[in-house]
Amino acid sequence: MGYKLNLENLNIALKELSKEYRIFAPKVLSGEGTFSDTDIVRYGEIETVQEIEFNKKSQFSYKEVLLPIRQTLFFFTEDQIKEAEVEEKAALIFLRSCDMNALKRIDDMYLRNGFEDIYYKKLREKAKFVLIGCEESFDSCFCVNMGTNKTDEHDAYLKVSGNYAFVDIKDSSLLEVFASLTKEEVEVTPDFVEENEVKVNIPENLELKVMNSKMWAEYSERCIACGRCNFVCPTCTCFNMQDIFYKDNKKAGERRRVWSSCQVDGYTVMAGGHSFRNDKGQRMRYKVLHKVYDYKKRWGYNMCVGCGRCDDICPEYISFSNCINKLEDAMEEVK
Ligand code: SF4
Ligand code: SF4
Repeated sequence: MGYKLNLENLNIALKELSKEYRIFAPKVLSGEGTFSDTDIVRYGEIETVQEIEFNKKSQFSYKEVLLPIRQTLFFFTEDQIKEAEVEEKAALIFLRSCDMNALKRIDDMYLRNGFEDIYYKKLREKAKFVLIGCEESFDSCFCVNMGTNKTDEHDAYLKVSGNYAFVDIKDSSLLEVFASLTKEEVEVTPDFVEENEVKVNIPENLELKVMNSKMWAEYSERCIACGRCNFVCPTCTCFNMQDIFYKDNKKAGERRRVWSSCQVDGYTVMAGGHSFRNDKGQRMRYKVLHKVYDYKKRWGYNMCVGCGRCDDICPEYISFSNCINKLEDAMEEVK
């Protein structure tokens, strides 16, 4: 059972929720696109439902709310260390099914991979998630083949139609906020896409020897190692460490972690200067097999959720979904 209420009342609910939560949703950032006079859709704080962009895919995912692009972990002096504070206020995040499924992958990495990351855990524990349905697939999505077109992990669901909002609230604390508002009880069922135009086929017989295929050579030429595909990916979780020393006291500073990318130069540089995967085709191979091969061996499902953002953002028009679809022939080639 859910509710139908008008957008004015939904905004009253959002205002009430903003006392406890920072509210994040995909929104249009005018003039902030890659090229001059272009817009970008990415996550930002909102106050009203009208600010949410429902009709376009966000180019970046919500992950920067829980895993900031740059995050100070601790401050240090010569003989003292002080852990950095983590944002006190909880986050309420509006997101689509693919991203809800991506959250499970980020939790794997930061909570279940042999240790719990305290910085992530503090933000994650308090966060609530509101599902935005998908009436239709966007052009580059392939969530259906990745099995991520549906979810039931959300705390609430929201659909906007005209001047009305249709909500289904599973979380009791969120439900309380709606108690005093004028609303009508209605059946609300999430919209999930059942078909994408883009189809992918991950061959059943995929094995590590696909590393030896000639297919990777194409990417040595075409990829420019910009890392954009990793930064927009809701399931990429790698970071680098930076120690920043203050100018006025060079013996004090802070340690930060900063998003990183397995496609960029320097990612695999070891102490002593040795670097693995200097070739960009090798980096592509590493990324692809991590997303659709070895992760599944460890966790039982693929890492990639088929959001298609990497295809949308690549300046060299390299398509991840096309790459997956070459794996079958590649396995034939190396068998
Ligand atoms: S690899 Fe590409 S399609 Fe898959 S989850 Fe990451 S950005 Fe989305
Ligand atoms: S976005 Fe494209 S060009 Fe940039 S690193 Fe990724 S695959 Fe290479």
